[in-house]
Parts: sequence; C-alpha cells; structure tokens
Amino acid sequence: MKREGLTIILSAPSGAGKTSLCRELFKIFPDIKESVSFTTRHPRVGEIEGEAYHFVTNEEFISMVDEDAFAEWAVVHGNMYGTALKTLEEARKSGVDLVLDIDCQGALKLKEQFDSGIYVFILPPSMEELRRRLESRSSDSQEVIEQRILRASDEIKESRWYDFIVINDSFEVAIQELASIVTAHRRKTFRMMEQVGKLFDI
Ligand code: 5GP
Repeated sequence: MKREGLTIILSAPSGAGKTSLCRELFKIFPDIKESVSFTTRHPRVGEIEGEAYHFVTNEEFISMVDEDAFAEWAVVHGNMYGTALKTLEEARKSGVDLVLDIDCQGALKLKEQFDSGIYVFILPPSMEELRRRLESRSSDSQEVIEQRILRASDEIKESRWYDFIVINDSFEVAIQELASIVTAHRRKTFRMMEQVGKLFDI
C-alpha cells in the first residue's frame, strides 16, 4: 500500500521563532517539503515568487476562493493567505510529508475538515520574552509591535486545541522536541509498511 504524505501544521504568534524552527526542521529532514501558500501581500526584499509564496492580486485570490481552490484561507495582518487544496492533495497522494506554516484561524478551519494532520503550536516562554524578541527585530515600528502583542494574546488562547505545544525557550530544546514529534509520526506502523514491504518482501 502506498504511504500517504504526512501533513504537519505549525502555528505561532509572531516572534515565537517559528521561521527559524522551520528552517532547522528542513535541514534535519531534507525530504520534508514546505507548503507554498498564496497571498495578496507584496513580496518582501529577497522573496521569490513560488518559493516564499505565490503572490497574487486580490481579484485572483477571490476567484480562487470562489472556485473552492483553498483548503483553508484567512486574513492575517490585513492580507489574505491561503493553502491550495491541490498542494495538500498532491503531497498526500505522492507520499511527501508537508509542513504548513499557517495562522490559527486557518489551522482551525483545516482541523475541522481534516483531522489526520499533526497540529503543533509554538509558544514563546513568556509575554515579556515575546515583547523583547519583537523589539529586538529592527524591522518593526512600535505600533506594529503593540499590534502583534495584542494579537499574540488571542492566538495563545487557541493553543488549547492543537495536538502538541512546543515552548521555544531554548532553541536547541525546541527543535529537538519538534523533530521528535515529527519522527514519532513518521515511524507509525501504517506509514512504515510500504518501506518494510520493499525491504523484506512481505
Ligand atoms: P508573513 O506575511 O509574515 O509571511 O506571514 C504572516 C502570517 O501568515 C504568519 O502567521 C503565517 O503563519 C500566516 N500564513 C502564511 N501562509 C498562510 C496560509 O496559507 N494560510 C493561513 N491561514 N495563514 C498563513
């Protein structure tokens, strides 16, 4: 039986360290792919179309919504973001394990229709540390930082329905925990049987 790809959903408030954890996760598991979302936000310096995101206009995004092309979508910081159903289905069918870096509104929509994913929430060790991390990024204005902190308190409440919570205090511990969660799911018997069959002809 063909092994289905695993879907790993990661959410976190801005500043919790999700981007760095994801980057490290892809180094540990080079065969895991990152889902490329669609967004109406403008590309940042260095972001390449089709790598960071598929950058589309509001009209293009809305027509995808109308065509039911999204497995989930949400408005985050005033822009629309969505995961194409096709991205999820293709990965699942071809046995590719996929990481989705999406906000909790989108993750909840996905969980309601698709419970077989692994839902992981990454938390900062405290609100004070979250503020410190956001303030140490030179890119954001004080107003943006305050908005992100307000939003973080709401997002953290959503962590209760995720399957796993990783607290990113020490980066080394957090990445180890995240990698362990991923490995445990990849080693479930039903996901191993295709490989076992090939190795031992059973
Ligand atoms: P950024 O614009 O900084 O790359 O991402 C902003 C937020 O949008 C992050 O919290 C990220 O997880 C979320 N996001 C990115 N892609 C998607 C998506 O396809 N769906 C949803 N719901 N959120 C997304």
